[in-house]
Amino acid sequence: MGLLQLGTPLGWDKAKDAAGQVREWGIEQLLTIWRKNKDKERAMLLWGDEIEYLVVELDQEQQKARLSLSQAEVLQALSEDKELQKHGPIVPDYQGGEVVKNQATLPTFHPEFGRFMLEATPGKPWSIDFKDLLEVEEDMKLRRVIAKQHMGKGQYPVTLTTFPRLGTKDDFITPYYPPSGPALRSQFVPDEIANPHIRFPTLAANIRSRRGRKVELNVPVFHDDKTQWPFHDPTVNYHMHNWPEDDDVRNGAAKENCVYMDAMAFGMGSCCLQITFQAKNINEGRVLYDQLSPLGPILLALTAATPIYKGFLVDTDVRWNQISRAVDDRTREELGEVPLKNDRWQIPKSRYASNSTYIAQDSRLRPEYLDPNLVIDQKLKQRLLDGGMDDMLATHFAHLFIRDPLVIFAEDLKELDVNGSNHFENLQSTNWQHMRFKPPPPDNPNIGWRVEFRSMEIQMTDFENAAFSIFIVLLSRVILSFDLNLYIPIPRTTENMEVAHRREAVLNDKFWFRKNPFPRKTTPSPSPPLQPQHHDTNQTSSEKPTVNGFANSASGAHSSDLPPVDDEYCLMTVNEIINGPGSMAGDKGSQFPGLIPLVRHYLSSLNVSVTTRCQLERYLDLIAGRANGSLWTNSKWIRHFVREHPEYKHDSAVSEKVTYDLINTVVADIEQREDWSSKNGAGWEISRSLDQEPDCIAIVPDHPQYVVIGTYSLSA
Ligand code: ADP
Ligand code: MG
Ligand code: MG
Ligand code: MG
Repeated sequence: MGLLQLGTPLGWDKAKDAAGQVREWGIEQLLTIWRKNKDKERAMLLWGDEIEYLVVELDQEQQKARLSLSQAEVLQALSEDKELQKHGPIVPDYQGGEVVKNQATLPTFHPEFGRFMLEATPGKPWSIDFKDLLEVEEDMKLRRVIAKQHMGKGQYPVTLTTFPRLGTKDDFITPYYPPSGPALRSQFVPDEIANPHIRFPTLAANIRSRRGRKVELNVPVFHDDKTQWPFHDPTVNYHMHNWPEDDDVRNGAAKENCVYMDAMAFGMGSCCLQITFQAKNINEGRVLYDQLSPLGPILLALTAATPIYKGFLVDTDVRWNQISRAVDDRTREELGEVPLKNDRWQIPKSRYASNSTYIAQDSRLRPEYLDPNLVIDQKLKQRLLDGGMDDMLATHFAHLFIRDPLVIFAEDLKELDVNGSNHFENLQSTNWQHMRFKPPPPDNPNIGWRVEFRSMEIQMTDFENAAFSIFIVLLSRVILSFDLNLYIPIPRTTENMEVAHRREAVLNDKFWFRKNPFPRKTTPSPSPPLQPQHHDTNQTSSEKPTVNGFANSASGAHSSDLPPVDDEYCLMTVNEIINGPGSMAGDKGSQFPGLIPLVRHYLSSLNVSVTTRCQLERYLDLIAGRANGSLWTNSKWIRHFVREHPEYKHDSAVSEKVTYDLINTVVADIEQREDWSSKNGAGWEISRSLDQEPDCIAIVPDHPQYVVIGTYSLSA
């Protein structure tokens, strides 16, 4: 989340008129940033994770779990804690491209959209030293402990993607506010559910106003044995007359067999796990952006953790599309529902969606991979080209800049600060694609070009969050060291993103993926090159002439040598993609070596100590197990928990008691951990295995305690 600026925000009627000015000024700021930083070299790769929490309050007396709207109080308590501050600088400290190894830097906490949410990041970015990698899990545990210590009685930082009963008719928030406020106009949630900082209600209200009606989320309900069919969401009120938008449901907004939701909070109130990498220079950043992009949907399926919405089991496993719809500000014209009259173009995707551009100046990037439906603002692109930017990057930003800025502060329209970034960030930070290319911030000359990987769902335990973070970091190393080529056409990634939503897609569905990831010079073979290669990413645009934004293929393989694009990729299971050939009987279609074998090969090529290797293997085992089905996704585990609960009536409804038991179970391990917070290396080991009793998720080998999930109790 960007900085929270104060000022006088414009309502949509005024913001609309200022949109063009903000875009033009944003492009000028981008050009300044790009010019200053295009030749910048960073010595080292840095990376950082973001963990988002729900603050949940457990009422043991009433056996109820409620979302606690205590974000401000928790952040206040954290900022006033003298003990915490004593431990040293919270702001990352750099010198000459190196992160200075100060004394332990404590994690930082940030506000988020939901007034029941909290975000925590490491106090300073990690290096890719193995020493740092092995600190991540402990740091994540520490963050949770610190957060917990600054919460009120009975409150817990919970890493579920969504609160199962957000938007139900009962008092699911504390303190309680009745629904239907002027900003969201939701019939299910009050405006007080959002962070009260003026940015957030304005954002929500302007999305709604721009769109011309409330946002609309319809998630297919899970059809259980006793679910009434056809299903009509029983929580929808068709008789409200507080706001014009109350007509939405009378006009068919709520769809049959779906759970219907109507506000930004149902999407932006979800928690995720994001990883940001700093590349050594702009070109390496562009390569990473492209190569990590096809992995977005695969990691979304592997981290699936969202089987419940508004008190119902749903038939999908992940959050992504719900957020996409929760901030979809497209008008009927832009959606193609009515002919274009006032708007400039039809737009195929929400501003929260899988990404639509490749940006690397890479001879392997074939024009056929690009999105044929890409919409760009030609005038702004021309300005970027005139300012010296290459076609490929100009196209990327000219695509992001087709959107309107949603929150504009009157004070910002007086004068352009060409050395600032507020107007640029206004558009950049409200384009929520699954990859984000982050230019250096103008106010910190030490930070380089960064790439953010944004599709993963938050996991219930810190072990899992550390495992996925470290897996992506190792993959980024493998991609650069082996010069991997994971390109597939962008529309195939868009399709994959949809597939990832299906229930148990991780096991039951197939995803488009590239068959042979090795550089063309290497004979296509299932075994990777023996030594990591060091891909020279220092090409400049003058060395690599571009035609229509496309790197001249003369510098790479001749197009006549190349197979048809469609022969380069095929449908694969997640297991084939992660574990490689022979990973499952019957999976013999592809020659893809598997991402985990590639990571292991990479680790073997380095001088990694046995201890380090064993630690890392714990994480790889989790990923491998998810992919081959021996370990469950959070989504499968939660769905199983609900369906096995004695109170569940097999009608899809997730009651207050089931929710309470679920959350109580999930936080049981946190309470234990808090007692151990002073000790290092508590050695939490989580397994969620089919071979074992599926009820048992957490085993603590070097402590006598273990947590049993399913009986809702903590055994010692
Ligand atoms: P946003 O919410 O805009 O994505 P945050 O500041 O919340 O950004 O989180 C960014 C992450 O990037 C944090 O984990 C932080 O540690 C990390 N980070 C900060 N500086 C760098 C850097 N120079 N290189 C890589 N990662 C960084
Ligand atoms: Mg966040
Ligand atoms: Mg953040
Ligand atoms: Mg982020």
